[in-house]
Amino acid sequence: MTIACNLSLIRSKIHAASRDGSADDVTLVAVSKNQPDSRVEQILAAGQRVFGENRVQEAEARWSGRRKKYPDLRLHLVGPLQTNKVKDAVALFDMIETVDREKLALALAQEMKKQNRNLPCLVQVNTGGEEQKSGIAPEALGGLLEFCDGCGLDIQGLMCIPPLDEDPVPHFAMLRELAQKYKLPHLSMGMSGDYEKAISEGATFVRVGTALFGEREV
Ligand SMILES: *Cc1c(COP(=O)(O)O)cnc(C)c1O
Repeated sequence: MTIACNLSLIRSKIHAASRDGSADDVTLVAVSKNQPDSRVEQILAAGQRVFGENRVQEAEARWSGRRKKYPDLRLHLVGPLQTNKVKDAVALFDMIETVDREKLALALAQEMKKQNRNLPCLVQVNTGGEEQKSGIAPEALGGLLEFCDGCGLDIQGLMCIPPLDEDPVPHFAMLRELAQKYKLPHLSMGMSGDYEKAISEGATFVRVGTALFGEREV
């Protein structure tokens, strides 16, 4: 199947899975990390404009030159961010989905003031309590949100990556409940294998890579 085909198929599945059937409340984030440029060009030609990348430098190489041609491009950082990359990340991205600690929140807030770019952000929650995974523990979320508020960081919602070997639905439900508790409107959850389930649980952003582009290059 061509990438344009994949895109329309996924769009119609998103449509079908969304609560009111309009899908206006669900944004498809095309995760283009480790995908060849030719595939990215195909999906741009098919009209996709919202993209997710997990590494600042790779994203810069791919996207900084394409900004002029596609002024409506929206780039989401979906991978972990180190504080020494904050400057470049703030300059390039339109949303940071992976705020997960005070040090990073503070660095982002300061850099955004410097660059006069007030990017919306999401807090990544480690819903599975996995040691190797980034994200704040659910019980520490309230404290981090308060800290972000104090820094003036615009937190619009939560993001999670459920453990690979578990049913994702309880994780999606937990993220939704946390977002409700803290009155946050956005939920980034669901990937190629489970985005429809995530939408049923209230996702407003789904992050889809391989189902759109095919397997990644390593
Ligand atoms: C790679 C990645 C995705 C996309 O995964 P697929 O299974 O290829 O859809 C989504 N979210 C994050 C954070 C990722 O790193």
